[in-house]
Amino acid sequence: MSTTKTWTERKYWNEEIETMPREQLEAFQLEHLKEIVKHAYENAPYYKRTWDEAGLSPDDIQSLEDLQKFPFINKITQRETQGVGSFLGELAAVPEDDVVFISTSSGSTGVPTMSPFTKADFDAFQDTESRWFWQIGMRPNDRYVHALNFSLYVGGPDVIGAQNLGALCIWGGTLPSERLLYVLKTYQPTVIWTSPSYAWQLGEKAKKAGIDPKNDLSIRKIIVAGELGGSIPATRKAIEDLWGAELYDFYGLSDIFGACAAHCEYHDGLHIAEDHILVETVDIHTGEILPPGSVGELVYTTLQKKARPLIRFRTGDIGYIDQTPCKCGRTHGRIHINGRKDDMFIVSAVNVFPSDIEAVVHDLSGITGEYLIRIFEENYTCRYAVEVEKNADNPKSDDEVAAELSAALKARIGVKPARVKIHPDGGLNTRSEHKSKRIIDERNQEYNI
Ligand SMILES: [Zn+2]
Repeated sequence: MSTTKTWTERKYWNEEIETMPREQLEAFQLEHLKEIVKHAYENAPYYKRTWDEAGLSPDDIQSLEDLQKFPFINKITQRETQGVGSFLGELAAVPEDDVVFISTSSGSTGVPTMSPFTKADFDAFQDTESRWFWQIGMRPNDRYVHALNFSLYVGGPDVIGAQNLGALCIWGGTLPSERLLYVLKTYQPTVIWTSPSYAWQLGEKAKKAGIDPKNDLSIRKIIVAGELGGSIPATRKAIEDLWGAELYDFYGLSDIFGACAAHCEYHDGLHIAEDHILVETVDIHTGEILPPGSVGELVYTTLQKKARPLIRFRTGDIGYIDQTPCKCGRTHGRIHINGRKDDMFIVSAVNVFPSDIEAVVHDLSGITGEYLIRIFEENYTCRYAVEVEKNADNPKSDDEVAAELSAALKARIGVKPARVKIHPDGGLNTRSEHKSKRIIDERNQEYNI
């Protein structure tokens, strides 16, 4: 007699897709790649024009490697083609009547770009989001607070993935922290999603308001995205200890959808939805293809999104993909992201990512974890300085703390900061609601990479 599990006891949201053997997954990708390239060529004026000019046609795709013949696109391509010829622009491959939703990028590095979805695109986005929520153990008996911005931001609608899974959802948005703490205290939700810096600040604010996040609240899982902190072990541990909860890093791109990749229970990289996104890794400078596992710029091709297919989109994210099997049984590769190409700076021929500096700051005891990085030039050479806050009960002198931090940065990154400035607790103005500004670039533009 076989025992039948109820649907809530199953391990995977979509077992067939999530555990597909690699060979089969690649056959699935090839089939969808052929279709999407044809769809893009026949319907998006930009692809038709540039591929014609390059002597390429959809028939040139006979294997996944054949994609390498096609040109890259990037954020600039999106900006230059949006609004050209039609409201949706030259990368769009459906008429406006088929579009039900648009999100836009934050515009933090230029003009915001718009990302359109058909009804089927939007439903696939939410189904993938349900997959990630299920993957971290969310079930219909969970109460979930979605504390992400709903205005234009592609992370806003992610809450529908939790609702479709059956969880009780509270659409928190960007509530002021006092009201959000009221929600956490009154409704006792078990899962929350916010940015890593805000998860930290909210926990600290709770303590100051006399609420112990570990014992007075019921949060057992924290999802973070939008900043790298969730994948920095020291940051993750600090937030987990503060809340008595397990932290999971999620990753989305406004250019694709808010559900690109997520941690599983092993937290060893983020499983990327390889049924929707084909990943390539290329050399940052030359664009040359690198083997899986090498660090480079991640390039994504959307395999199913009809409204605006992205073929070989250079994301500006630096990292690598690990396609070895994961202990959780899922076969989709795991991405590890070191940082944004735009945030990286070079000091004495060493690539420095702000996330490396954050990891050191969060590892060192006796400081609050708040920090500010200044990048500047001195004698035509790029240098960096770090400012931190000393805990009120730290008996060490400012000079001692500065020397400790400087040595730890040298050990981890390879180059010492030009200066370390120590502030008292609360002395840095980096605590802001939801997203913090921690990098000040004082260089002339010509020295930026
Ligand atoms: Zn896994």
